[in-house]
Amino acid sequence: MTISVSPGTVSTSPLVADAERPVPFIDLVPQYNAMSTEILGAVERLLAEQKFILGDEVAELENEIATYCDARHAIGCNSGTDALIIALQALGIGEGDEVITTPFSFFATASCITRAGATPVFVDIDPKTFNLDPQCVEDAVTSKTKAILPVHLYGQCADMEPLWRIATQHKLAIVEDACQAIGAEYQGRRAGVLGAVGCFSFFPTKNLGGAGDGGMMTTDDPELAKRLKCLRVHGDVGQYEHVEVGMNSRLDALQAAVLRVKLRRLEFWTASRQRNAKRYADMFRQTGLTDTLELPTTKADCRHVYNQYCVRVRSGLRDHVMQKMREAKVGCAVYYPKPLHLQKCFAHLGYRLGQFPEAEAASKDILALPIYPELPMADQERVVGTLQKIIREAVPTTQRIRRAA
Ligand SMILES: *Cc1c(COP(=O)(O)O)cnc(C)c1O
Repeated sequence: MTISVSPGTVSTSPLVADAERPVPFIDLVPQYNAMSTEILGAVERLLAEQKFILGDEVAELENEIATYCDARHAIGCNSGTDALIIALQALGIGEGDEVITTPFSFFATASCITRAGATPVFVDIDPKTFNLDPQCVEDAVTSKTKAILPVHLYGQCADMEPLWRIATQHKLAIVEDACQAIGAEYQGRRAGVLGAVGCFSFFPTKNLGGAGDGGMMTTDDPELAKRLKCLRVHGDVGQYEHVEVGMNSRLDALQAAVLRVKLRRLEFWTASRQRNAKRYADMFRQTGLTDTLELPTTKADCRHVYNQYCVRVRSGLRDHVMQKMREAKVGCAVYYPKPLHLQKCFAHLGYRLGQFPEAEAASKDILALPIYPELPMADQERVVGTLQKIIREAVPTTQRIRRAA
């Protein structure tokens, strides 16, 4: 079997022993190398045309994303963050309104609510999926609540059925933060059509990543689609008529051109991510590490697209394991080390440590391992072998500490 070694990130020198070869957490180079001719062709075509803002290229990508997500409309914008802000604004959410969301996500999940002029209301998560706990959502609904903003974290959809029920009962909108979940499914339906608006990001490390920033909003509602389209261009309804103040958040045609080439391979990459996840599960079970490492849970009604493969490291060993992985030059990462309710910029909201025990515990246990589609088998074996060594050495120590305590 041939192992693809990517130039630039990995030394191919025969003097470097395999055990010392760095294992990158993510490497975007092999993906580009496999399709560089096509991407360069698309970029050259656009440069020749000099049509950089919106235009046919963006419209084509919007059609293709709408088809891919099984949505009636898709509207490109500048980033996943902007997609979330525009979605909230289009739904009329602002000053005095509350939006319920998770504290265990990327910052933009909550900052978009503040940016739209509303107040984020955090509630705790389910410890198995790391997604919103619907019971906690229900308990947090007040007369000011206008929307629920679930995140499909790591590429697995939130538990939507109870959220739909709560939303219907209290007349709330649902805005999906699907930035990590393009192609994910819940009960056979794609992320992006599980609420009023679905928000996607084309940040380079997402499952469909551009050559820079980019985002997309999906909806089945034609009126909402019109409003989203208008808000991304300063609220211009045409002929320099502005009915409300929007943003300057257009998707570049160059990004759209690159993304259109890449979209054709997305299903293949998703299958590769799923294969890698299955390999991890098989290998970890064989090593007998599953006492210390809790593997990700895939729910039966979900298609998980593994933007991240996150394990929980038990016994308070996460930071130790991470340190040792770094020393062994094996890539890993923490998403996310500090829950959003404890961020300084949200201090005025009055949350305190201990308020969301599941989110806080997850932030201390979580560890993301390399999962990108081109991850070589040998690298994956290194990840598991290194973890095995670190945990074997560490666990007797903690047991000694526990006995002494
Ligand atoms: C990446 C991401 C965003 C923001 O997307 P950008 O394109 O970087 O603005 C928002 N929410 C989640 C959960 C993300 O992973």
